[in-house]
Amino acid sequence: MSGDVNPFESLQEQIDDAAEYIDVGADVLKRLKHPERVLETSLTVELDDGSLEVFQAYRSQFNGDRGPYKGGVRYHPGVTRDEVKALSGWMVYKCAVVDIPYGGGKGGIEIDPIDYSDAELERITRSFATELRPLIGADRDIPAPDVNTGQREMNWIKDTYETLEGTTEPGVVTGKAIDSGGSCGRVEATGRSTMLTAREAFDYLDKDPAGATVAVQGYGNAGSVAAKFIESELGADVVAVSDSSGAVYHPDGLDARAVKQYTALENAIDADLARDVGADVIVEAANGPLTPDADAVLTDRDVYVFPDVLANAGGVTVSYFEWVQNRQRFYWTEERVVEELDRHIVEGFEGLVDAYEQKELPSFRTAAYVVAIERVADAYEESGSWP
Ligand code: GLU
Repeated sequence: MSGDVNPFESLQEQIDDAAEYIDVGADVLKRLKHPERVLETSLTVELDDGSLEVFQAYRSQFNGDRGPYKGGVRYHPGVTRDEVKALSGWMVYKCAVVDIPYGGGKGGIEIDPIDYSDAELERITRSFATELRPLIGADRDIPAPDVNTGQREMNWIKDTYETLEGTTEPGVVTGKAIDSGGSCGRVEATGRSTMLTAREAFDYLDKDPAGATVAVQGYGNAGSVAAKFIESELGADVVAVSDSSGAVYHPDGLDARAVKQYTALENAIDADLARDVGADVIVEAANGPLTPDADAVLTDRDVYVFPDVLANAGGVTVSYFEWVQNRQRFYWTEERVVEELDRHIVEGFEGLVDAYEQKELPSFRTAAYVVAIERVADAYEESGSWP
């Protein structure tokens, strides 16, 4: 992992790469490279032994031109202001690629949750939710799970918000447990979209996924579920799984369900590693796993990279379905969620392919940004100016 690459600079570079191919003014483009606002807060929380600890926390609202800010909240010791800014920008372009009516946001707390009790994590989460309260809401900014957060944390955020506001508003946050207003299929959605993107990629490249060998880097909620579906639905063999703590390899295939869960982060593959990658096709389940230099090496080597902003967009797409269900107070079957998700990823994939072929773009990542930037810029320009 290449820790010295700043993910916010990577995001800006990706936007610049796409800008060459689109007709968007330099002024609008500048707007699309910077967050609208960032909350930075120090949460002072009492630990179980009565002492106080201060945690740095952030929420970046990158762009709201297409709808409310949308994106997860991560708990990780490596969280920084720039990382959160980058992740919030990726959410803008992700939501635009799959054409769901959201802008982008992201939050994070600099913490290793493993070091804290459940009661401490609840107090930390409620403290963060209290700071977020004036900024969030079903029509303003909608948090969701990300690295090291899940249904439990979302239920706490929802309860804190509803208690402070004296209302019921389940759509203030997505990724909740089913009994708290969550959606069927949300937990698996990110990994499912990675599998769907791989399925479409193999079809586009005229390759048969059955019997293909697959290596999975990062084995958290996204990678582990993707591995399971890639085996069960596409018939490929997952032969290697790796993350920051090590790797397992078995040439005849691993049982994807039996490998313990760990998580992938940004910059997992830098230019050096990219020179050694043996794969013909890369599908990104994590956010920002390739540095821009790695991307350039892989493009030169004719390795096809299907980018995060499509391949992990299932999470936010089913978050959107959850939010729609919350607003209507009418809940869908799992079958409907799976079917609608499939449609969004297939249409998103087709949009990338059209741009890639028609504009003769160098990569599918650039194609994704071309499609997404045009959508965001159109929404901005259509809304006219405001002082
Ligand atoms: N954290 C996920 C992502 O990076 C999901 C965000 C959401 O559901 O809003 O896409």
